[in-house]
Amino acid sequence: MGHRFEDIIGTVGRTPVVRINKLAPDHVNMFVKVEAFNPMGSVKDRLALGVIEAAERDGSLKPGQTVIEATSGNTGIGLAMVCAVKGYPLVVTMAESFSIERRKLMRFLGAKVVLTPADQKGMGMLKKAVELAETHGWFLTRQFDNPANADIHSKTTAPEILEDFEDIGLDYWVTGAGTAGTLKGVARVLKERSPKTRVIVCEPDNAPILGSGVEQPRGPNGEIFESHPYWRPHLMQGWTPDWIPQLAEDALDAGWIDDIEPINGDDAMRCARDLAQKEGIFVGTSAGATFAGALAVAEKAHEGANILAMLPDTGERYLSTPLFEDIPEHMTAEEKEISDSTPTARFGAPAAAPKPAAEPEAPHAAEPEAVAFLNEVVGDPAQPVVVFALEWCEFCWSVRRMFKRLGVEYRSIDLDSAAYQEGNWGGKIRIALRDRTGKPTIPQIFVGGKHIGGATETFDAFNSGELQEMLAANDVAYDESLKVNAYSFLPKWLHPR
Ligand code: PMP
Repeated sequence: MGHRFEDIIGTVGRTPVVRINKLAPDHVNMFVKVEAFNPMGSVKDRLALGVIEAAERDGSLKPGQTVIEATSGNTGIGLAMVCAVKGYPLVVTMAESFSIERRKLMRFLGAKVVLTPADQKGMGMLKKAVELAETHGWFLTRQFDNPANADIHSKTTAPEILEDFEDIGLDYWVTGAGTAGTLKGVARVLKERSPKTRVIVCEPDNAPILGSGVEQPRGPNGEIFESHPYWRPHLMQGWTPDWIPQLAEDALDAGWIDDIEPINGDDAMRCARDLAQKEGIFVGTSAGATFAGALAVAEKAHEGANILAMLPDTGERYLSTPLFEDIPEHMTAEEKEISDSTPTARFGAPAAAPKPAAEPEAPHAAEPEAVAFLNEVVGDPAQPVVVFALEWCEFCWSVRRMFKRLGVEYRSIDLDSAAYQEGNWGGKIRIALRDRTGKPTIPQIFVGGKHIGGATETFDAFNSGELQEMLAANDVAYDESLKVNAYSFLPKWLHPR
């Protein structure tokens, strides 16, 4: 198989196994399987492709039918990618407690994300997905008990591992479990084709639902109606929902789990950071947790043992979570010292305040055509709010952002856009604008023919209420309930506070 693919889903799987060099104790060989190499950055791309193609094959998913799933994020992100390629609309339900980047990623990929209250835990989002599927006739992928979830790991993940350890053998395979698709699918094949490999499952030490040995409470028909008594909210997003999923029970009942490692949340985060900073392997919290489990296994393992840990996803999915809590946004004292060690582009007095876009070389007088255009636009009663802007200027975007939040319709004349390039038309209007306002900078904002000024003056006018009065006087509708400091519309790096 070469490296040219017909579509992005052809790139799912075949993830690399990488040796751990600095973090591994000397007496063992430690390796990690880096699932972040999947196109959407997680192991769940495999499941997404597996369940959709299985449903296409057995006819339970019809062309164009909406797909729905309850997901902590990675499954939804994988499904969004697969559905985008294959043309299925996608709706996901997700507890509001999962990281913001996950929601945004799914929406960016075209999916709809329906949030469920955090206090209803994983079961709340699952129930909502079932309800929506039943109400609308959507296809529910049922990642938690769909055999296709485990099957795709038996078909792809497990043979990849066997091939990569064919020459040296594998003594320990270490994983966590969310749906337990990875666990069941890989363990099933390892037990058959590499019986000496011990299967180790990690779970949060404060939610030991497998290690407790306590059975999942179930109804008369096996249905789950309450959380497992040992479950507590934990740090490892993607692991250990509040009940024992069917696929995990299958693996337990089959006797495929040789040991269970309880993992501490702080150890998980430390391991994720160590993997990044010492090995250059950038992964998420559950990956750090699995690696913490692999280190515990290593301590007890025999000389020369080969240990493989699954790393389920990329660290980029955790920017708004505790994993990044100690990572500073601003320059540290050490960074400031580096900055101060040379004269250019450093902070401190006099402040190198960012300036609005400066005037181009424009010593000429305004041309009558441009003056006429300006008068016409600014005096147009049909569009009283006019912004003279540059397409990609941050100050212009801040003003746009404010008008959008205010619900104000405005006309934006983007002087550097393609529409104004011919014959330097934008440049000529800019000169006319400078002559009219006395200001060389962009943006310049007008309401009802009256010049307000640049971004700063417009924000001041909003904060004082003057802008709102001008809008009202010109019959421009706006959201009267909006109460913010207009300077908050500046991007964070320009924000004065
Ligand atoms: N880690 C993360 C970050 C995940 O999203 C998932 C999937 N829920 C897992 C681990 C566990 O994978 P599986 O569902 O196959 O058990």
